[in-house]
Amino acid sequence: MFPAEVTDFFKDQKTPFYYYDLDVLNATLKKIKKHGLSKGYHVHFALKANNQPKILKVIEEAGLGADCVSGGEIQRAIDSGFSPGDIAFAGVGKSDEEIELGLKHDIFCFNCESPQELEVLNELAGKQDKTARIALRLNPNVEADTHEYITTGLNENKFGINASDLDEVLEKLPELEHLKLIGIHFHIGSQIENFAPFEELCKKANALNDHIEDKGFELSVINVGGGFGINYGHPNDNSVPDFERFFELFEENIKLKDHQKLHFELGRSVVGQCGSLITKVLYTKYGQTKNFAIVDAGMTELIRPALYQAAHRIDVLTSSKPEKNYDVVGPICESSDTFRKDISIPEVKRGDLVAIRSAGAYGEVMRSAYNLREANPTIYSDEIE
Ligand SMILES: *Cc1c(COP(=O)(O)O)cnc(C)c1O
Repeated sequence: MFPAEVTDFFKDQKTPFYYYDLDVLNATLKKIKKHGLSKGYHVHFALKANNQPKILKVIEEAGLGADCVSGGEIQRAIDSGFSPGDIAFAGVGKSDEEIELGLKHDIFCFNCESPQELEVLNELAGKQDKTARIALRLNPNVEADTHEYITTGLNENKFGINASDLDEVLEKLPELEHLKLIGIHFHIGSQIENFAPFEELCKKANALNDHIEDKGFELSVINVGGGFGINYGHPNDNSVPDFERFFELFEENIKLKDHQKLHFELGRSVVGQCGSLITKVLYTKYGQTKNFAIVDAGMTELIRPALYQAAHRIDVLTSSKPEKNYDVVGPICESSDTFRKDISIPEVKRGDLVAIRSAGAYGEVMRSAYNLREANPTIYSDEIE
């Protein structure tokens, strides 16, 4: 949990707010360097998980590249110091303006998701008299064994080019003279805790790699995406995901040719555990069948429980009373504005501070102003003496 001086500092801040522990972030990046970058792998950080400039700066300085899914993210990555040569741009619906921005900065690679997108990109690159480097996002039809809203690699998902369309795309590519195929790209889903789907992905990637190279293309980039999960139940004991095993799995299962480099796009596993949402208990309500702890953070600050039934660990920072059962809920006028149901935590009273843990990824980035709620300043561990 948090040292006393941190909790004391929190007491004087306006809640709710996001808190980032930079020691956890740095420990995470150290493991990524030790077990991934040291093998010659390229890791692009997925900005959609967290786009706080201060976080991005730390990640960029650790030697990671960027993975963007919008023009806004490309701009943020560049503003945060990422070299355009380390920026990959993915997304099923890239607008003309976003593509033009990527072309203007000569980004590393466009991960293309449909035959029509290739034609549009070719035309826009031609207008700027440029050649766009592309990777084909292929749909490997791998079951990621995660929540249905965050699985992306099945034929039924909207993402990527289906295997049945691949040969036609490859035949057409030479006519698209402003495109240069440099790689293949996959991303099968998110919060994947089980290693089997990644093994399956490696098999599919190896076969597709051979298939495309046999047709005379040279692929220098094999990009296996992200999706590595974090432990939401035990963030203290597992503050850093097991990157050693993760990268080893790919080392053992992916077959790279001499001219090829392996690329990853990690989001959640990089930043998930370094962030917490700090909130205050506004009211307690003891009913006949249920007790409620009503806190001042809601789905507007952290939508994951409402959107994906995500269960974040809840730590009470200012009470060590005997435990009681609560539904911990927010103030928003929606029944889905519930962080946890029926959890046992120390008895709380109005004014107690509570930390909703593992909120560094897909937390603050998805904040909304619904109910005209205002955002309080974010706090970083290095601001606390
Ligand atoms: C979201 C996303 C990622 C990152 O996923 P995580 O589960 O956060 O690691 C990587 N690549 C693409 C294309 C994505 O859409």
